[in-house]
Amino acid sequence: MADIHFKPDAALEAAKWVEKVRINPGNFADSKKFNIREYTDAEYAAEIERIRERFAPLVLVCKERGIAMRIGTNHGSLSDRIMNRFGDTPAGMVESAIEFARIARALDYHDFVFSMKASNPKVMIQAYRLLVARLDELDRSDGGGWNYPIHLGVTEAGDGEDGRIKSAIGIGSLLADGIGDTIRVSLTEDARHEIPVAKALAEIATPHAPAPALEGWPFDPFTYTRRASQRIEVAGVPLGGGEVVRVVVRRAVFDKVAHKLDGLGDYRPEVVFEDAGVVEIDPTDGPSVARVNALDGSRLVAVADGCALPVIGAHRLLAKVLDERHPIMLKDTLGGGSGDFLQNLLRAATNLGSLLCDGIGDAVMVQGEEAPGQSLRIAYNTLQAAGVRIFKTDYVACPSCGRTLFNLQETTARIKVATSHLKGVKIAIMGCIVNGPGEMADADFGYVGGAPGKVNLYVGKTPVKFNIPQAEAVERLVDLIREHGRWIDPQSAATN
Ligand code: SF4
Repeated sequence: MADIHFKPDAALEAAKWVEKVRINPGNFADSKKFNIREYTDAEYAAEIERIRERFAPLVLVCKERGIAMRIGTNHGSLSDRIMNRFGDTPAGMVESAIEFARIARALDYHDFVFSMKASNPKVMIQAYRLLVARLDELDRSDGGGWNYPIHLGVTEAGDGEDGRIKSAIGIGSLLADGIGDTIRVSLTEDARHEIPVAKALAEIATPHAPAPALEGWPFDPFTYTRRASQRIEVAGVPLGGGEVVRVVVRRAVFDKVAHKLDGLGDYRPEVVFEDAGVVEIDPTDGPSVARVNALDGSRLVAVADGCALPVIGAHRLLAKVLDERHPIMLKDTLGGGSGDFLQNLLRAATNLGSLLCDGIGDAVMVQGEEAPGQSLRIAYNTLQAAGVRIFKTDYVACPSCGRTLFNLQETTARIKVATSHLKGVKIAIMGCIVNGPGEMADADFGYVGGAPGKVNLYVGKTPVKFNIPQAEAVERLVDLIREHGRWIDPQSAATN
């Protein structure tokens, strides 16, 4: 499969040789200039016509050779035309892909799939849901046949457990809802490490029974809003309302780590389940739900273990039927774990992450993974990847490709050593300036390959330092973070 950006001619040539071509509507026939201007309807239509002229020859070659195409939109690399009309939003991503699909359909070419990737799992989930809703609507209003296959991916997910967790939140939660026909896990690691993760995600998602039919979702599937609940104190810890999402453990887990709480750093348990007065109910049991809703005051409520529904569906139903004032504690499983760490990690990230991205959950408890330290890491890292609790540095790193201008894995590791104590700072590490800047999403600082051996540094999407020799680029990145008031010394971070 040839993945082509910025060069329609290269796509045309590649289509003569490969089995599938991926184009990015954001840069197929547009160079990105970040121009801000208003397009009249006539100007907008003229732009579409210009794209049709560039895109139609590629469509015709694919059609003639019987090969497939991916119309792959990425958050952060939308065209100026789309950005000015829709913004860098899921709606803009969907519209961008639909414009190209209309051109292909007009030429009676249908062997294409869509993708809507983003490095932020929340944005990615919303974009795919919106795409599916839009295709459904077009299928009814525009001649049918709009339900093209969908390819799922989280871009620039990074490496290690964080990369796996981000991928699981985005890909796993969509698969669990029945969305997605092919998947790619993009890790900043040797590419063969992506395969076991992708296989495990597909396996975890496949046996999911559909969520129960609800009359109206208990959340907006296209926009993030945290479920309202009342702030309460459990065992002296505030949660619910606007409080951060808390991490709960069973007493058996707490006892195993009690002697080394200081050594756990930011991964300490916050609430012991047995001390928290948690009310556990089966959300399908109407009388139990009614009893909890009739209680005075607010209580922390969880789904009871053994509930027959799939985890995501059970918690959605709980959010639907439970009185709004009660905070909800999420569980990653309603039974045991699998004994396999990767499975436990991906299942927890899929189930908890999906619900957190929908605004459900005031506390989480990981019980599928038995090792106490690992279960705490999964809980905290899932909260960070879902964007609901930022407690450490956030990294966006591209998976690398033929354009990469430095060793991404080594560089990412060096940057992490220098910056991993900076809570809440988001750093993008991108292999090239062709796609890197567009795909850094909402990073605070960017480290981007500018030329062989040279690095450009960014503040947000603005390049501020150019052609820095690679050997000194990490130090200069630290200087830049310091200049912008986001640096603290590692020693002070440790005592905070
Ligand atoms: S090197 Fe550039 S094109 Fe390749 S994956 Fe990284 S950002 Fe994307």
